[in-house]
Amino acid sequence: MKTKTIQKHLLNWYRQSGRVLPWRGARDPYAVWVSEVMLQQTRVETVIPYYERWMRTFPDVASLARAPQDEVLKQWEGLGYYSRARNLHKAADLIVSEFGGRLPDSAEELRKLPGVGDYIAGAIASIAFGRPEPALDGNGLRVLARLSAYDLPVNAARGKRELSKVLRGLLPAEGAGEFNQAIMDLGAGVCLPRSPRCDACPLAGVCAAFAQGRQSELPVRRSKKTTPHYEVVAAVIVEDGRVLIDKRNPDGLLGGLWEFPGGKVEEGEGLSQALERELMEELSVRTRVCEELGIYRHAYTHFSVTVHAFFTVITGGIPRALQAEKVEWVAIDRLADYAMGKVDRSIASDLKK
Ligand code: SF4
Repeated sequence: MKTKTIQKHLLNWYRQSGRVLPWRGARDPYAVWVSEVMLQQTRVETVIPYYERWMRTFPDVASLARAPQDEVLKQWEGLGYYSRARNLHKAADLIVSEFGGRLPDSAEELRKLPGVGDYIAGAIASIAFGRPEPALDGNGLRVLARLSAYDLPVNAARGKRELSKVLRGLLPAEGAGEFNQAIMDLGAGVCLPRSPRCDACPLAGVCAAFAQGRQSELPVRRSKKTTPHYEVVAAVIVEDGRVLIDKRNPDGLLGGLWEFPGGKVEEGEGLSQALERELMEELSVRTRVCEELGIYRHAYTHFSVTVHAFFTVITGGIPRALQAEKVEWVAIDRLADYAMGKVDRSIASDLKK
């Protein structure tokens, strides 16, 4: 590939047509880091208001490190993939204690931080510190696969590694961060998944897929496994205007968030039976399941759930947090102060209604 031609055409295009985003321009490594973590798995339009609010609440590494986890999760609520927020928080702590409050400037050191993989390390090192490190997101992978007519799956480790090498070879000595962002922007706005706008593409003259008429065949993707589905039950236990919720253990899916107690329905179990069993195992209480509050569906990365929420009364025992960090009786009006995942927030909203 003609490296100099690609650099020139792409950077000219980027300076005129690149996206204008709130985290662009300033080279604050913390701002780059926060924005890139938020952008993983989440669309730009969704991220913008979260990013702006986050930067007002936690304007630097030190303020993030000082904040309690509950507050961090509350700020993140609605963005999903909560391990990202927990890792940001843990990493901020580490940056304060090990690096004097400044993010390290090399991709190698950055990769040692919790939640920082190749992509984020490359983005921070190149955008904030001007290092010639590749940062390849899904959009960028598509562009490079087409540009080089790459025939192997781009969602496999080998594909990512080889295309990252291609990108490294294209990076200019100066302005690697701009170049990385230009590749991603080209994928987001021109080299689109289904109908690439090759007529508007600054790289059409050097693109192998375009020359071969294979834009619609590339990139190749390894087919995804079908994800399992689970039936889940949740209890809404209300006493004297307060409802019982528990705080999930700190790690794992939705770790550190608050939820209505319950769990998966086992094979052959009825919904009420499953809920009574779960509440005995989780809280050590005997219960009676009453009417249904609602049914909620949600898809996570590796599985999907249908959650049946039931009003439930305790008929024996005092709730104890056997499988959670803690349990609390919370006034229904105060549920909004507790960070929750999407399904539990929907249950809380329906309860309030
Ligand atoms: Fe993508 Fe078409 Fe540009 Fe090639 S020419 S990079 S396929 S938009």
